[in-house]
Amino acid sequence: MRFMCVLAVWLAQVSTAHAQTGSPGAGVPLDLATARAANISDLRYELVLSIPEDLATPLTGTNTLRFSLKDASTPLVIDFETSREHVKAVEANGRPSAFAYVNGHLVVPAASLAAGTNAVRITFNAGDASLNRSKDFLYTLFVPARARLAFPVFDQPDLKGKWTMTLEHPAAWQSAANGAELSRTVNGTRTTATFAETEPLPTYLVAFIAGDFKLETAERNGRTFRMFHRETDAGKVARNREAIFDLHARALAFLEDYTAIPYAFGKFDFVAIPAFQFGGMEHAGKILYNASGLMLDESATQNQLLGRASVIAHETAHMWFGDLVTMRWFNDVWMKEVFANFMAAKIVNPSFPAVNHDLRFLLSHYPSAYEVDRTPGANPIRQVLDNLNEAGSMYGAIIYQKAPVVMRHLETLLGADNFRDGLRDYLKRHAFANATWSDLITVLDARTPVDLQQWSRAWVDQPGRPAIQTELQLRDGKIARRAFRQRDPRHRQLIWPQQLRVALGLPSGREMIVVDLNGASVDVPQAVGKPAPAYVLPSAAGWAYGSFVLDRATLDYLSSSLPELDDPLTRGSAWVTLWDALLDGQVRPATFVDLAMQSLPRETDEQMTSRILGYASAAWWRFLKPAELAARATRFESLLREGLAQARTPSQKASWFGTLRNVAQTPGTVEWLRQVWAKEEAVTGLPLAEADYTTLALELAVRQVPDWQQLLQAQLTRIENPDRKGRFEFVMPALSADPAIREKWFLSLKDVANRRREPWVLEGLGYLHHPLRAASSEKYVRPSLDLLWDIQKTGDIFFPKRWLDATLGGHQSATVADAVRDFLNHLPANYPERLRHITLQSADELYRAAEITKR
Ligand SMILES: [Zn+2]
Repeated sequence: MRFMCVLAVWLAQVSTAHAQTGSPGAGVPLDLATARAANISDLRYELVLSIPEDLATPLTGTNTLRFSLKDASTPLVIDFETSREHVKAVEANGRPSAFAYVNGHLVVPAASLAAGTNAVRITFNAGDASLNRSKDFLYTLFVPARARLAFPVFDQPDLKGKWTMTLEHPAAWQSAANGAELSRTVNGTRTTATFAETEPLPTYLVAFIAGDFKLETAERNGRTFRMFHRETDAGKVARNREAIFDLHARALAFLEDYTAIPYAFGKFDFVAIPAFQFGGMEHAGKILYNASGLMLDESATQNQLLGRASVIAHETAHMWFGDLVTMRWFNDVWMKEVFANFMAAKIVNPSFPAVNHDLRFLLSHYPSAYEVDRTPGANPIRQVLDNLNEAGSMYGAIIYQKAPVVMRHLETLLGADNFRDGLRDYLKRHAFANATWSDLITVLDARTPVDLQQWSRAWVDQPGRPAIQTELQLRDGKIARRAFRQRDPRHRQLIWPQQLRVALGLPSGREMIVVDLNGASVDVPQAVGKPAPAYVLPSAAGWAYGSFVLDRATLDYLSSSLPELDDPLTRGSAWVTLWDALLDGQVRPATFVDLAMQSLPRETDEQMTSRILGYASAAWWRFLKPAELAARATRFESLLREGLAQARTPSQKASWFGTLRNVAQTPGTVEWLRQVWAKEEAVTGLPLAEADYTTLALELAVRQVPDWQQLLQAQLTRIENPDRKGRFEFVMPALSADPAIREKWFLSLKDVANRRREPWVLEGLGYLHHPLRAASSEKYVRPSLDLLWDIQKTGDIFFPKRWLDATLGGHQSATVADAVRDFLNHLPANYPERLRHITLQSADELYRAAEITKR
């Protein structure tokens, strides 16, 4: 295949040449980043910024980029996604330089550059898009590639630079950056603060804050920790501060011990930001948090305390996983996230012994991962990413839910200590630099006889999951042969090596056996001679990952006796597996719902109760036929009201109430809900907030209770916050009993201006396609699909999938399933592959429901 090789080399040269020419593409294309990383080294930034108090005035400054060039024969591309007018001057190696502004890049001609050492100094007005400016403070948030929206940089994770910053700002303000503060000089109404040079950092970890912040400091283990915050309630600060410092110190100590590498970034600051975009962001030496997750109220639940400890441990773990060793490109962003969570669980879980952590892990990972991975539109953990401006589309259930399962398997495969030593080796080898998933696998592969390259191909590089089947032969009431077999439902002949933790229901009780399923099948000699089991559950212990095809006896046993399993984790595994069996047509939806009704009054574990309620309502609208639903409505609703009355905590009551509100259909229940909405009835022990009344009003309207119009109007006047009022007004027409008004509302969405408030649109779509209105909304499905591409071009990264989910979620008919198939069969050749995939993901349950309900 020599021709292929020559062609490949030629293509590589063309694309490299293109990347280095004066016309780089928009965003941060992979070919540009690859060419730059190969050419640039010894990178340093000296950033000087002046921050005005007035919000309308831009920040101004200079950024001096010092670096070494291997090859100075091509133009230099610097990312600065603002406008040509933002660039005030460019100096290269001490002399004014010509430059071009192309597609969000500043291009410096080769004539201004030299092989070896260079310095390019750019004077600019900063862009505001990633500076989060408010009246009296600002903070930067540059992940994944948004530093270039503020000032000129090489905005890619594998060009790490050492940053020196000088910030000049109003004298009354605090400021902090990644590096330690060196000096602070007041000059009249202005202060100039300088910060020490950092270790090499990728641009997405660079950050500073300035503004009206209060400062708390504490000593722990000989280290000073500083917390910046804007909390005005001194009591709240006093209540929380010791715990917050303790949690950081404990996480830091654990990580230094686990990795055998001391914390690498000098000082340790963190900042509590009101209404921060994420739970936290791991800027080296200066973590930003959402204030509401750190400063808890006195009434904080166990869950909130666990959440706070977890986010602190997660961000602290990033100082090693992500900050010290950084992914080369954002296609490996999942690695740092998985490791941060993995470490956080090790650090935090022992402090919360009352929580069943294995069950929590099962329920928070497997169902969401399966929801994508069972579909033909599934993506692998490791994806291709051509441009950092698409980095947002990497995120989803496969990264957040499947990858942690895979990482836990990997640790078990190597053994916990061996795995830890491998991680130490990996961190040491790539410290202050970059690494890929392959680099980690290479390090770990040397530590095990298992072929990790092959393991990784199935688990990480390919989408989907194995179908795992039990084979059981009985003789004289005893097991004669027991085997497990796996196959690739997509016919790629992939093998997913993993451990099965199998629960056997024996007359003497539950027995667990561990089986390594490393090939297409495995025999289990240790089961031979045991009495015939009532059930065999290879997905037990919340461990193995796949689609489990249960034998008939096990299906029958679980369908009738699941609540008798005494261990919550085994029950959890059984429920997750039965949901798969329902989707595969092996368990009738009515049987499934009946089992939920039988289980709920007996369930003692709070996590399981919430999960069963979730499964029951999902099966209720989507998979029951109208007659099956009608036959169960009264019984289900009274069971839910009983559960609501019996539940002990407000959060448990909220799950029961939410399910009741979702499925209510009988006149008695609907009238009771109306009285609750009218505040004539109260739900004992469950304080309802404005948002609860709003949802209740919408649910009552879609059920066309008498005077539903007045009810909506009354709710509108109850809402005081103008933003929430606007949302309610926006959604109201989608609920009208008049089809013409609903139609007008839907047609208005064709105009992008009416889709700007995405959560509003999604809420309205959900009610437009409510199961009770499914027949009349079928006609909107195809036009919605036809809008999808436009939705992707004009909306937020998560909007297309959510748009589809809101559109398809209420339907179960073959007509709608056929409409989606027809759409997919007639896509134009240039239709984006990712969009086709998410359509397949979103339509999967609809297809299955149409198939199941027609039987
Ligand atoms: Zn993270």
